This record gives sequence, C-alpha cells and structure tokens, in this order.
Amino acid sequence: MSQELYSRSECSLLIRRAQLLGRGVFDVRISGSTITALAEQLVPLSGESIVEAGCNLLLPGLHDHHLHLFATAAARASVVCGPPQVNNEVELEAALLKHCKSKSTWLRGVGFHDSVSKRIDRQWLDRVCGNRPVRIQHRSGMMWILNSCALSELAIDEKIELPDGAERGDDGQLSGRFYNLDAWLGERLAKVRPILRDLSHELAAFGVTGLTDTGATNGRASWSALEAAMNAGELRQRLLVMGNEELHELVATQPKRMALGPLKIYLREVTLPELDALVARIATAHQHGRSAAFHCVSLVELHFAILALREAGVRAGDRIEHAAIADDYALDALAELGITVVTQPHFIAERGDQYLVDVDVDDVPLLYRGASFLRAGVALAAGSDAPYGGTDPWSSMRAAIARRTPSDVEIGRKETLSPLQALNLFGGELQKPGGDLRALAVGQVADLCLLALPWEQLQLDLDARHVALTLCDGQIIYDAAATQLAS
Ligand SMILES: [Zn+2]
Repeated sequence: MSQELYSRSECSLLIRRAQLLGRGVFDVRISGSTITALAEQLVPLSGESIVEAGCNLLLPGLHDHHLHLFATAAARASVVCGPPQVNNEVELEAALLKHCKSKSTWLRGVGFHDSVSKRIDRQWLDRVCGNRPVRIQHRSGMMWILNSCALSELAIDEKIELPDGAERGDDGQLSGRFYNLDAWLGERLAKVRPILRDLSHELAAFGVTGLTDTGATNGRASWSALEAAMNAGELRQRLLVMGNEELHELVATQPKRMALGPLKIYLREVTLPELDALVARIATAHQHGRSAAFHCVSLVELHFAILALREAGVRAGDRIEHAAIADDYALDALAELGITVVTQPHFIAERGDQYLVDVDVDDVPLLYRGASFLRAGVALAAGSDAPYGGTDPWSSMRAAIARRTPSDVEIGRKETLSPLQALNLFGGELQKPGGDLRALAVGQVADLCLLALPWEQLQLDLDARHVALTLCDGQIIYDAAATQLAS
C-alpha cells in the first residue's frame, strides 16, 4: 500500500448505501471536511472508516435559520427557586440538583424568596451543588446568594475591596449573600458567558449542523463571545451571525465555521423609524456586503419593511423574520422583490391557543402562513427562535404539516405543507435560506444528517429520534449508537 493512499484513507469516512432524496442509493466518501466522492458504488480505501447506511436517508445537515444562542443556553441554566414551584428547602435542593449534573455552565436561580428558607447561604449551596458556579437571585432583585465556586469565578475574595452589602457570617467569612449590589455584581457577571456545549449537543442530536444567531444587538462583544465558544470547541455547528452596524467593520479574520450575516433590524409597530433613515441603514448594510433581516410580527411592520426594501433595493439574502401575519399583498410583494421569509410553524403548536384569544379573528388565517408563501413564489425557511420556541426542527416540521394548537384546533388549513416542503424549511443555505434542500455533491463541505429510516417511512414520522449520525465539517458531532452505549 502506498504512503499516499494510507494518509488519504486514514482520515476518510465512507457512508455506504445511503438514500439521497429523489436520486437513489449512493456511497459517499468524506475526506477531511469535504465530500470527495459520490457514486453508486465506491471501493473502500484501506483503513477507511465505514458507516453502513442500509438504504436509509442521508440529508444535508439541517439548518436552524433563526435562534438566540446565549439566551437559549442561559434559559437552560435557569432554575426557579421560589413559590409557587419551590416552597421549602427540600424542594429547593431538589430543583437545584436536577440542574447540577452538568459541570459546564453557570446555574442561575431566579425568584427566590425568604419563605423558602432563611438559611440559604454560600455553605448551603456548596453542599447541594459545589461543583459549578451558582447564583441565586431574590425575587425582589435586591439580594443575591453565590456559592464558593461562583465567588472564585468572579474573583470575589478578601484581596479586593468588598462593598458594604457583602455579608459576613459569624465566622467572619463571606456568607455568599450580597445585598443591594446588583450593579456591582452585574459588572463582574458581564464577563460570564453561558456555555454552549450542551445546547450544541442537543442541536446535533436533531441533525442540525448550521445555525443563524439572529440577535439584533449582536456587536463586537457578542461576536467575540461566539468566536470564543467556537474556538473552545463548545459550538460544533457552522454559524452565521446577524447583528448591528458594529459588525460592518468586522475584519475578515473569521474562524472557519463562522460567518458574518445580515444586519438585523428590529421593527416595532409602536415606534417605527423614519422611512428615510431605515432606507439608509439598509443601503449602508448592502454597501458592506451584508443583507438586511427584519423582525416583523405585525402586518404594519411587514408592510413597512417591504416599503423600505423597495426603496433601498433588494440584495440576495434580504429576509423577513417571523412574518407572523402576512396578507396577500405582502406575499406578492415579497415574491416580486425576491425577499426570503424565515418562519416558525411550531409557534402554532406551542402558542396557538393564545393566538386564538389575542389575534383579531380576521387575521387568524394569516398567521404563520406556509403553503401560500410557496404558491406565491416566496423562498420560505424556518428557525426555532429559541429560547422563545422549542429547538427541535422535527417538531417544527410536524407543526408545519398539522397546524394544530395545543388544544387541537386547526389554524390555516390552506397553509399545510407536505413533508418534503416542511423538511426543506431547514435545508437551505445559511446565507440564503429557503428553496429546496441543498443537493449533496462532490466538493461540498460534509455537513450531513443520516437517518435510521428511508424517506418513504420518515415522511410519515418526522421525528428527531430517527437521527442516527450528524456530521459537521466532516466531523461526527452526534452518533445515536454511541450515545445509547454511553447511557
Ligand atoms: Zn428571534
């Protein structure tokens, strides 16, 4: 065996007999981060790793085109520490312990009240969860309790000048209770960013290989924090980062899996900006090679965004986030201008009953439309909007098909998508979402999701539990078989 063949095969992976949607069964070779061969049959290289797909479906990795990473990770690490859920020490201990398994993240307790216990201090917290930094906020916002791990992370000790509200116990040591020191603690906590490892793993288990962080306030600090998470290996997916004007001047030293995304413009019907100013913002973003993305939940916001984009001129990748209520005028205008819509069909399944109470009855059929966008010729994609929506794209696909509220009321029957259309919502390019699934081809980055079923069965049961293997950039980031062995 030649040296060259050995070194090539050493890092290559052959996925055998994988179903490619609408194309048949193929062998797919991945070397490094790229798909290097795709044919009906490939001869294994010496030493090559082999995955037998067994004629099950191989998809391009799914993309969550809209979420808020740090907010989602922070929400995951928050635990309610007061009434009505938690009423005494025993319940508080149980609530904290449930979240204490992972060592990786700060735990934030909210809603604590004295009625739970007057004894909670640093030592109590150390005993219950000493393995990770914990901070609990009193419901009044006036008091915080930190454990030793948290004090050490924030470098709060006798070496610094401690303000008056830092309570000491009978032994003269810091009790971990801090009174009226919100700003003082906040300054220290600003440096603490939520750890993304668990969230990234959760998304990988859904087959998600690409993410768009859509924070309107993302500036240099957020970019650096996301970059740090990427470099630390916490974030295994590819990432597109939307944000504000600060990112226009971003020097192009972007890490391999991270790219600059659109200018995010947060429109609110009650405080719409001057049209000229908005048009100028869009034009400046376009000049910097960035598209514009508009947060639009009301019809007025949507019409205003369309008006501004019409004035400024549209750039490929310009998009509307949510388009929660869209009339036929908007559909036609979006199609004519070539503007993408990134929707959240799962909001019907998660919040639909509340919509039926809050939304004008005439607008209910216009809520989170699906098929009408496609019929009008609008590129349609989806994202979880986590933490405001659930992270599972498969549940979003099911919602796009069923369109049922939690109490099983159907909303917008004419908007029902087919299983393939629902899948397509999560399969477009990160920089230009919408349209058909990315077609797998030689030369592409190996962002892949292998299922444990062929499409004929999967389309009847679009469920995350069928995800068998997820690869991003040629690396396995989720392996169901390995996960089962481990648990
Ligand atoms: Zn959002």
